[in-house]
Amino acid sequence: MSLPHPQGMSSFWRKDPLPLDNHRSTPHLPAESDLVIVGGGYSAGALVTHILAEYPDHPSILVLEARQLCSGATGRNGGHLKPDPYSHAGALANEHGLAAGQEVAAFENANLVAVKKYIEQENVDCDLVVTRGCDVHFKEEQVAQAKKALQMMNSGDAFQTCKNVEQVSGVKNARGCVTFTAGHLWPSKLIHHMFRQAIAQGVNVQTHTSVQSLTRLPDGRWSLLTSRGTVIARQVVMATNAYTAALLPEYHEQIIPYRAVSCRIVTPGKAPLLTNTYSLRFTDWDFDYLIPRPDGSIIVGGARSAYCQKKDAWYGNADDSGVIEETRRYFDGYMQRHFIGWEESNAHVDDIWTGIMGYSRDKLPRIGPIPHRDGLFIMAGWTGHGMPQIFLAAKGMAEMVVGGKPYSQTGLPRLFEETPDRMKAPNKVLEGWSKAKL
Ligand SMILES: Cc1cc2nc3c(=O)[nH]c(=O)nc-3n(C[C@H](O)[C@H](O)[C@H](O)COP(=O)(O)OP(=O)(O)OC[C@H]3O[C@@H](n4cnc5c(N)ncnc54)[C@H](O)[C@@H]3O)c2cc1C
Repeated sequence: MSLPHPQGMSSFWRKDPLPLDNHRSTPHLPAESDLVIVGGGYSAGALVTHILAEYPDHPSILVLEARQLCSGATGRNGGHLKPDPYSHAGALANEHGLAAGQEVAAFENANLVAVKKYIEQENVDCDLVVTRGCDVHFKEEQVAQAKKALQMMNSGDAFQTCKNVEQVSGVKNARGCVTFTAGHLWPSKLIHHMFRQAIAQGVNVQTHTSVQSLTRLPDGRWSLLTSRGTVIARQVVMATNAYTAALLPEYHEQIIPYRAVSCRIVTPGKAPLLTNTYSLRFTDWDFDYLIPRPDGSIIVGGARSAYCQKKDAWYGNADDSGVIEETRRYFDGYMQRHFIGWEESNAHVDDIWTGIMGYSRDKLPRIGPIPHRDGLFIMAGWTGHGMPQIFLAAKGMAEMVVGGKPYSQTGLPRLFEETPDRMKAPNKVLEGWSKAKL
């Protein structure tokens, strides 16, 4: 299994260099640290933020990032902060019981509120916009399924439209749409802010430092062999998402690297104003997501139908060094094809990039102590949906790692807890793909 590719391509979000991109708090690695966090993305940034906020007497913290700061999935995603109050949560309710599904829906809504509060309190310059997310369905059976899920979930402010749907959504051939509170932001600016605060409070951050192996010492501590020497830690948090199995073999086929694409579309001509974010749900498997940026551009991700026929192109593939060629054609004329009134807009792709998501075998995040590995914790496997979960997940993680609380006392959704049983779950990622018969 792969470590991060040494030449990951850039993305729109990371075009302009940021001061912490190549930060090293000290010229050499410390020989020891109480807590080592492996990975320098949203998970790591949110975790140090909560530790520093809640535990003034926190242990020493070292963050090790293989490439530039925030250059993994977080630095190349779609910027969509979209809770899912009915669709995935509804599927979870069907499978695990209503209370478990509702817990996930409530958690994602609470996460959005908490992120907004943090950004406002800290005055973070990251283009946060809170608006309505609009899920568009194109088939009658999907509309019926959405209606059923909404009724079952009794989902907060989610609202379904089945009449004049094209006019309401602005999307051609729409048969139904569900809207609810959602947001969008500039992810790397948020994460760099978190690390700026953390570094100012003494957290040691080391970029371009790849962890290559982990070994348990006889005294119970962990030895991390890195590209720049060895560090000993009492506790280690794996904030490595797609790359977890490269260090922990038991995560092979548990957190699966999944190659994905996003692009930026610009519009030189006149086009209708978009204020919602969107998910265009063509099938359960095949959907695109879209955010309108305050600068008038659009970020779109998805395009699965263009490249997912070939399993090797995405499944277990951690190569983010170049564009997935098939997806270039997919986004040509995208806005003109799908949005009413955009026909003469001359909207076109301005930038396109690849990123690696960490898909969990059972499509649920994995949070908490790692079974049979005393002192090791995980927060990963976000399954392409980390933005509505990571911030509050990190609060619970801080309570476990530093506060010593058991998972059950953190208030995190029961389904997200890492357990030995989950390792035996069926591989839903492959199941969904084979059923889709792309
Ligand atoms: C193209 C794309 C679009 C997406 N769009 C959205 C979206 O719009 N909304 C949404 O909710 N989610 C989206 N996601 C998913 C979202 O980006 C992730 O869920 C989230 O960013 C995960 O954050 P993370 O910090 O756990 O992982 P990452 O950001 O990937 O961070 C993990 C870090 O660990 C480092 N690392 C790994 N192994 C090692 C090692 N051995 N040594 C040192 N460092 C290591 C990596 O270099 C990386 O920087 C998208 C993902 C992609 C790829």
